[in-house]
Amino acid sequence: MANKKINKKDTGKLLSQWSKEFTVLVPSKEGDVTKMARWDGMDTGFMEWYRNTVIPAKACLFPPMEEMFHFQKDEDGYQLEVPALDKQKQLIFGIRPCDANALAILDEVFEDTYEDPYYLSRRKNTLLVGLGCTNPYDSCFCTSLGSGPYDLAKVDIMFTDIGDEFLIEVVTEAGKELIAKTSGLEVVTEADGARAKEAKEASYQKVTRKVDTADIGDKLLACFENEDYWEKVAAKCISCGICTLLCPTCYCFDISDELIKKQGTRFRSWDSCGFAVYTKMPMENPREEKWRRVRQKVCHKYEFYPMNFDLIACTGCGRCIRLCPVNWDITQTLNSLPSKT
Ligand code: SF4
Ligand code: SF4
Repeated sequence: MANKKINKKDTGKLLSQWSKEFTVLVPSKEGDVTKMARWDGMDTGFMEWYRNTVIPAKACLFPPMEEMFHFQKDEDGYQLEVPALDKQKQLIFGIRPCDANALAILDEVFEDTYEDPYYLSRRKNTLLVGLGCTNPYDSCFCTSLGSGPYDLAKVDIMFTDIGDEFLIEVVTEAGKELIAKTSGLEVVTEADGARAKEAKEASYQKVTRKVDTADIGDKLLACFENEDYWEKVAAKCISCGICTLLCPTCYCFDISDELIKKQGTRFRSWDSCGFAVYTKMPMENPREEKWRRVRQKVCHKYEFYPMNFDLIACTGCGRCIRLCPVNWDITQTLNSLPSKT
């Protein structure tokens, strides 16, 4: 399908059309915290301030906290009441390529040995409409991970800012189907294509932070037992867990029951391997010292996950750098790995 375009001032009309079929989620502010949230049917002001959200788009499929089921105890034992899976069709408008790539990383885990019905039901019903980054953060390093501000790899449709208009590229069959039934789109000219190319090239140039990922798994393996190195790396970390909770590719969760008399609810909520109490329930935390937990965070993304899925579990979104209260920086760690233990 040929590319299309739309005037930016008609974005609201476009989202209204899509709202008839989907719950449309857009970049939103809740106090100082930004996240993807249900579009209110009017406001497209996010186009002015949006760079990327603090809470990653993974929260639309894997919420920070969710009810798994209710239970009740009677004379026959426990009776379970499992809520219907969320099958509402949703469209995430404006997802950045790094966060779309992160969902593909989560897919591998949630579809693996144990299929996760909660995540997979939402995933199957979610369409990703990407918005390329015109203004990447200083902390972004997506280009070191084979991606970039306009990476089409994991979105269904991609919007590129070409001035007063967005150029619209269709990537998947699902994207094609939606664009084919969307009205108000215009045909793209050669000049529009040239403007999009220029905008993309300019954005790629703005991602200046780099990580050398060549042989990174081997390098981490070589210094795995280097306690001095990891102690130095971990020194200033205060184990707050922000870098993992808000990482778009982290998927650890804890499970808890809330019981009142004979009725209860089982919840799951995001957890972090950075916490000293992590896995305290099933067993003692095998990583009591902080340096082991920091090592785990880095090695999981760049060594262990790639061993299982042949894919680095980091998209270079830079959240763990810009949101860390003590300026801990994963790129400094990766770029300063000692070659020998
Ligand atoms: S956000 Fe910073 S201080 Fe908090 S756990 Fe991560 S590295 Fe440590
Ligand atoms: S490790 Fe940091 S840069 Fe990589 S995906 Fe997670 S938050 Fe983003």
